[in-house]
Amino acid sequence: MAKTRPGKRDLDTYTIKGTNKIVRAGDCVLMKPSENDKAPYVAHVEKIEADNRNNVKVRVRWYYRPEESIGGRRQFHGVKELFLSDHFDVQSANTIEGKCIVHSFKNYTKLENVGPEDYYCRFEYKAATGAFIPDRVAVYCKCEMPYNPDDLMVQCEECKDWYHPACMDMTIDQAKVLEHFTCSECASDYPKKPLSSSPMSNGKMLPKRQKR
Ligand SMILES: [Zn+2]
Ligand SMILES: [Zn+2]
Repeated sequence: MAKTRPGKRDLDTYTIKGTNKIVRAGDCVLMKPSENDKAPYVAHVEKIEADNRNNVKVRVRWYYRPEESIGGRRQFHGVKELFLSDHFDVQSANTIEGKCIVHSFKNYTKLENVGPEDYYCRFEYKAATGAFIPDRVAVYCKCEMPYNPDDLMVQCEECKDWYHPACMDMTIDQAKVLEHFTCSECASDYPKKPLSSSPMSNGKMLPKRQKR
C-alpha cells in the first residue's frame, strides 16, 4: 500500500480518553503535569489536529498558577487564580485529563458555588519577563491590598471601601454577624487620608484607588 503523504488534519473535537467529555478549540483543559504529585496544568485549547498516523495534538496557550510565575504567589492571589500567559505549546491530546472553566474575575466573584473545575483569570502574564497586564490593580482596605476573593471583606457604609476584618481588629465571626460597619478612619474625626497610595513591595503592581 502506498504511503500517505505526511500531513495534518484539523479536528473539530477530541474526546478525552476514558470519558465522554468533548474538547473543542476555545475550551480550557487540565493536562497531566510532568510530575505526578503536581497540580494539573491548565491550558486554553487553540487548535486540535491529527497527523497522518492519527496522533492527536493540541495547540495550547498555558495558564500559569501564581507559584509558577516569576514573582511567585502573593497574598492577594486566590487559590483558584490563573494568569493567561503568552506561552504557546503543542502537546499530545493524551495528556488532557479533564475540562475546566476559567472565569473572568467578576463572574468568578458572583459564583454561588465554586466547584473544583472553576478557576478565574484577571491578569495576562508575560512568561519571559514576569510582567502582568494590567500592571495596575485596584486596592482596598487600610492594608492597600488587591482583592483576594478567598478572603472575607466588609464594606464601610461611609466611604464604601472594603476592609479585612483582621485589619479592623475584628474576627471573621464578628464580621459575619455585623449589621453595620464604619471603618476606623470614617469613625474618627481625623481628616481622610488622600486617595493616593504607595507602590507595593516589588514595584510590579502599582496600587490604584478605584472610586466606585
Ligand atoms: Zn486589610
Ligand atoms: Zn470608611
